Amino acid sequence: MRVLVTGGAGYIGSHVVKALGESGYEVLTYDNLSYGHPDSVLCGDLVAGDLADTQKLRQVFASFRPDAVMHFAAFIVVPESVKEPLKYYRNNFCNALNLIDACLEFKVNRFIFSSTAAVYGIPGKIPVNEEEPLEPINPYGRSKVMVENALSDISAAGDLRYVSLRYFNVSGADEKARIGQNRKDATHLITVAVRTALGKKPYLEIYGIDYPTPDGTCVRDYIHVDDLSDAHLVSLRYLFDNGRSEIFNCGYGHGYSVKEVVDAAKRVTGVDFRVINTGRREGDPPALVADSTKLRNTLGWKPGHDDLDYIIRTAFEWEKKLRND
Ligand code: UDP
Repeated sequence: MRVLVTGGAGYIGSHVVKALGESGYEVLTYDNLSYGHPDSVLCGDLVAGDLADTQKLRQVFASFRPDAVMHFAAFIVVPESVKEPLKYYRNNFCNALNLIDACLEFKVNRFIFSSTAAVYGIPGKIPVNEEEPLEPINPYGRSKVMVENALSDISAAGDLRYVSLRYFNVSGADEKARIGQNRKDATHLITVAVRTALGKKPYLEIYGIDYPTPDGTCVRDYIHVDDLSDAHLVSLRYLFDNGRSEIFNCGYGHGYSVKEVVDAAKRVTGVDFRVINTGRREGDPPALVADSTKLRNTLGWKPGHDDLDYIIRTAFEWEKKLRND
């Protein structure tokens, strides 16, 4: 079976490409390399191309003839989406439509979409299930809701079936430290923590200690990137087994506060790095934890790395190898 992966040279996409290759799928990565790295593509070929380039995209569909498409290529930085919304709507929404359009033209009826917990905004209850209203609080989250809505309408009108996976806090790296978070400007807590432990950053800032949570810092559901990859593989099998279009939350179902993550990072790395309490960061919900019952029950997903220390350790080992900071 052939799977076309957009954004396969990026952080999450590259882990899924690895998992697909190791499971015997034929994989082709389509990535404009704006943030992705060719070295991160461990399996299959890479075509450097942009989703706005519909001619190139069609050539890839025509020659590779995918049986399924996984769509990772998107911008992901929330504050940037507030400053430059058009950039987000154009890439995350318009370019997704280009890709879906090519799927329809080439009769590729299986589509897996990278969505996000940001679609929920500030959820009314924790843990959040898939029925919670979609009230995103920034253009990034809205651009993802727009694609979900388009997929829902397009699949209702024709043969396309899709799975939308709403990611919670994806973190960690490949067990053998071959791939991992590779962005210089990464802002994610665990990446920042291991970079600080390695002296690549002078200190870690905690964004707010006055939230209505047990220790005053925000709570998040950190999922290891290989478990998230596995969610993609079970979703793909589900679509190959003629499963109907579905949406699933991807997280472990329990959270850690920022302080807990920082303490764990100090313990795992063995470095008592500097931490500063600063003010709240705009747009941070106090708590975001997935109810992933649906993913577990419908697709039989069983996480293998629900272990904060393992997540931090793999991120740390990867970060030690990463010299391009
Ligand atoms: N955070 C922090 N310091 C940092 C990075 C993140 O205090 O240097 C906090 C952030 O405010 C949020 C949590 O850690 O409450 C997780 O943030 P991250 O950017 O990793 O993911 P998000 O939940 O925003 O998708």
